[in-house]
Amino acid sequence: MPLKITAIPMFSDNYAWRIEDVATGQVGVVDPADDTAVIAALDAAGGRLDLILLTHHHADHIAGADAVRAHYGAQIVGAGNDAARLPRLDQPVAEGDSVTLGSARAEVIECPGHTVGHIAFFFPSGPALFCGDTLFSLGCGRLLEGTAAQMFDSLAKFAALPGATQVYCGHEYTESNANFALHADPTNAALKARAETVKQLRAAGKATVPSRLSDELLENPFARAPDVAALASLRSAKDVF
Ligand code: ZN
Ligand code: FE
Repeated sequence: MPLKITAIPMFSDNYAWRIEDVATGQVGVVDPADDTAVIAALDAAGGRLDLILLTHHHADHIAGADAVRAHYGAQIVGAGNDAARLPRLDQPVAEGDSVTLGSARAEVIECPGHTVGHIAFFFPSGPALFCGDTLFSLGCGRLLEGTAAQMFDSLAKFAALPGATQVYCGHEYTESNANFALHADPTNAALKARAETVKQLRAAGKATVPSRLSDELLENPFARAPDVAALASLRSAKDVF
């Protein structure tokens, strides 16, 4: 049975994600930072929440988690090795652990780089990847805590997932990412076409997330970086672009 996945826009450019396991009706939410927006969206969709999945400790991902848990009696899942900077975890998890949402299962992928305790959740039955601020549509997260080598390894783990995987990142950054991507890789025809599509979607006020993993591997310069040094120089260039 499929997953039903819906964006919950928050603040100026964040997304929380509602995930419903259609077979059982169980519901999860990824990174519910704005509890008012998230509770309104979840109530409009039936008023159920079982699981809160946290990707990393930044306030624009976790700030509403305690209030949302209290409202629904849901369980919070997050990185055990970063527990000191997260809300109290009902389920501390690590690389390779499985998280159950009704009949669905998510695999935990540790993906340090943006922060040292960053994790992602991969649902093979989507296939769907919830990767917070690690891989963005046409970009990647800033190296605020981790190293380029860590980010390179994290992106390599994602690259090994099925090409059909839908990538659900934490921000609507695609249009500005596309501008940098075109600057870094000006002859990439697939990227040029994608940038045009992104521009039209944004002009119409539509979301550009999720994206398809196989497209990221063709068009995203960070996902395409051949080695750690190339990724490091791309990331430094983007920081001041
Ligand atoms: Zn972040
Ligand atoms: Fe963020």
